[in-house]
Amino acid sequence: MRVEHEDNAKAMGRQAGRNMAGAEEPYRQLPFFYSDLFDLGYEAVGELDSRLQTVEDWTEENRKGVVYYLGGGRVRGVLLWNVWEQVDAARRLIAEPGPFQPGDLAGRLPEKEQP
Ligand SMILES: Cc1cc2nc3c(=O)[nH]c(=O)nc-3n(C[C@H](O)[C@H](O)[C@H](O)COP(=O)(O)OP(=O)(O)OC[C@H]3O[C@@H](n4cnc5c(N)ncnc54)[C@H](O)[C@@H]3O)c2cc1C
Repeated sequence: MRVEHEDNAKAMGRQAGRNMAGAEEPYRQLPFFYSDLFDLGYEAVGELDSRLQTVEDWTEENRKGVVYYLGGGRVRGVLLWNVWEQVDAARRLIAEPGPFQPGDLAGRLPEKEQP
């Protein structure tokens, strides 16, 4: 899988260096990228493939919300659209085995702060 984004460039470089120094560790980094478009910004975690089923959960239509990408009963990717500090929570959700139905996902992110 070819990933042309900053996070991958850093993580893969670090891992390649470790393995050249003898670590012999697998590369398990889940792809992540971000960008800003004028006053909108997003962070994208995992596999954002338009062939997957998408579940949109907007707080504010097309301006703030989360889009989940579903495949084989699992969350394969998460688009955080003007929703911040949820990348690790998205990674945890993608790691969950499920199975997930579209109706299970509304309100899953952003994760509520722990009391
Ligand atoms: C306009 C633009 C916007 C982007 N925006 C985003 C973004 O919003 N979010 C995001 O996640 N990613 C973004 N990216 C992608 C991200 O910048 C790249 O994926 C990342 O920089 C790749 O890093 P790299 O180290 O693999 O390659 P590079 O940064 O391309 O580094 C390769 C280096 O190798 C050098 N080099 C090449 N050939 C040789 C040679 N024969 N000998 C010696 N040196 C050589 C080059 O000069 C270069 O310095 C953007 C890219 C562009 C171009």
